[in-house]
Amino acid sequence: MKKTNAVLSGGGITIFEVMSRLAVEHGAVNLGQGFPDRNGPDDVRAKAQEYLADQPNQYPSAMGVADLRHAVAAHDKRFYGLDVDPLREVLVTSGATEALASAFFGLLDAGDEAIVFEPVYDSYAPIIQRAGAAIKRIRLEPPHWDIPRADLAAAFSPRTKLIVINSPANPSGKVFSTDELSFIADLVKKFDAYVVCDEVYEHLVFDRHVHTPIMTLPGMRERCLKIGSAGKTFSLTGWKVGYITAAPHLLQAAAKAHQFLTFTTPPNLQRAVAYGLNKDDGYFADLSSAMSRKRDILAAGLRDVGFEVLDTQGTYFICADIRPLKTGLTDVDFCRELTINGKVTAIPISAFYESNGPQHFVRFAFCKDDATLHTAIARLKAYFQR
Ligand code: PMP
Ligand code: GLN
Repeated sequence: MKKTNAVLSGGGITIFEVMSRLAVEHGAVNLGQGFPDRNGPDDVRAKAQEYLADQPNQYPSAMGVADLRHAVAAHDKRFYGLDVDPLREVLVTSGATEALASAFFGLLDAGDEAIVFEPVYDSYAPIIQRAGAAIKRIRLEPPHWDIPRADLAAAFSPRTKLIVINSPANPSGKVFSTDELSFIADLVKKFDAYVVCDEVYEHLVFDRHVHTPIMTLPGMRERCLKIGSAGKTFSLTGWKVGYITAAPHLLQAAAKAHQFLTFTTPPNLQRAVAYGLNKDDGYFADLSSAMSRKRDILAAGLRDVGFEVLDTQGTYFICADIRPLKTGLTDVDFCRELTINGKVTAIPISAFYESNGPQHFVRFAFCKDDATLHTAIARLKAYFQR
């Protein structure tokens, strides 16, 4: 029989699905895949229920319902001072995953190059390749994940169509500094490229760190597609409501891909997310402070167990070095073994590299109930103190 598509069939099943299935199979506490224990805010869910009953359940515009497009524009103004035209510069997608795919399919042609930073979120590379472009990978190394600036500058070429920036970054928890973003912005302008800005963790930034959309830097407003996700901002990862903010010519490019990928997204969920995005500043501040407290609980627990814990500036995730535990296992084997026998699941960091990634770091998600975190810590202690 003829072969199925080489790029997509050639890849494996995503590490998140693999580890979540293994966690279920072995009754492990799942600190692998990044999803909260709790179902987002009650009022946002109540709105979704209300709108399901009272509002039209037919196709909305492929661009998204007007309420949500206005709410995204108002959000971008409130938090970043961006002036956004809700009708020409906002597109609603089925999660950030589809926003990313729409951006890549909408922008890339065969022969183009796209730059990504490793460790890299797993959905980027297959779609970029499926869109026909070549990938250039710039490696960030733990524990500081600093940008190797000379390598990055050398990666840009006249063929560079876009660079993807994920800040705050999964899995490293790095929040790119304004200085780093300015360095990238200068290269993007010099090479007449675009930035696909994966900012799904924009409201999960801790301590003194500040999330700056690269779109707000001088000369970048017309070059960026800024992607957000209600999944992260409202702890409703199963809803799959995402949004793109971009100048009209870029937004149109993504929208033309989106119309043939999903066309639209459930209207009641879009309206409920609009309600959520209009919540007061306190909601957003509480979200990050609650999450940073959870980060602290898990970080302290992991240190007690004996892991070397890296700094987490944002996101749902802590990266931890397993070498002090002296298991002699690679990260992949460590995560399998820990799930099956320690009953706690983590994600191996090497899964975020194409090849030869570091093999002694694992990622734990802390977006869980305190009780779940304490259970996981107790299990880890029991397991490593055998
Ligand atoms: N980008 C990053 C960096 C992520 O961690 C995730 C995962 N949640 C996504 C995109 C996908 O977001 P969504 O669930 O909205 O598709
Ligand atoms: N973004 C989530 C994570 O990193 C996973 C989402 C997914 O499984 N597609 O854990």
